[in-house]
Amino acid sequence: MNAYKVIPISTSIAQHMRVHMLDDYGNELSIRTAAYPNAYPCRHCLGYAKQHSGIVLFAYTPFKTPGPYSEVGPVFVCSDECQSYADINHLPPVVTHNHVGLRTYNQHHELLYLHSGLVQGKDAQNALEKVFREPEVAYAHFRTAQYGCFLCAVERL
Ligand SMILES: [Zn+2]
Repeated sequence: MNAYKVIPISTSIAQHMRVHMLDDYGNELSIRTAAYPNAYPCRHCLGYAKQHSGIVLFAYTPFKTPGPYSEVGPVFVCSDECQSYADINHLPPVVTHNHVGLRTYNQHHELLYLHSGLVQGKDAQNALEKVFREPEVAYAHFRTAQYGCFLCAVERL
C-alpha cells in the first residue's frame, strides 16, 4: 500500500450534478455523449466513460477555499450512477496511462512551482513519492497535460 490516498470528486457532488443539472457557477448542464473511447475520464469513478455513453460536463474547483490558485475548470462525470474510485492507495489508469501535470500545493493552497511539472503517467508514482518527501508539499493534483483539466487530488496518509 502506498502512503497516499487518491481523492476523486465526491459522490455527493457527482450526484448533485446529475440530479440538478446546474453547477456551482450557474452553468445549466446537459447530458453529452462520449464520442470517442478512452477520452472522457470520469472524475468520480476515475475510469473512462464508454464510447456512446452519457457524460455530464460541469465547472468544478477542487479547492475548498478561494484564493489566487483556486482554479475552476471543466470536468466530466458519468451521467449514470457509477462507483467512486475504490483503489485509493494506487493511482488510477487515467493518470498512469497518460501524460499528466503534477501540481503540488502547500498548506496555504499555493502552487509550488519547484515541485510541479509534467510527467509521463508511468513515472507518476515515482514523481509523486519524490514530491511527498518535500515537507512543504501538503497535497497534489493530477491534471491532463495538454489541457490542464483536473483529474484527481492526492493526499499523504
Ligand atoms: Zn464514472
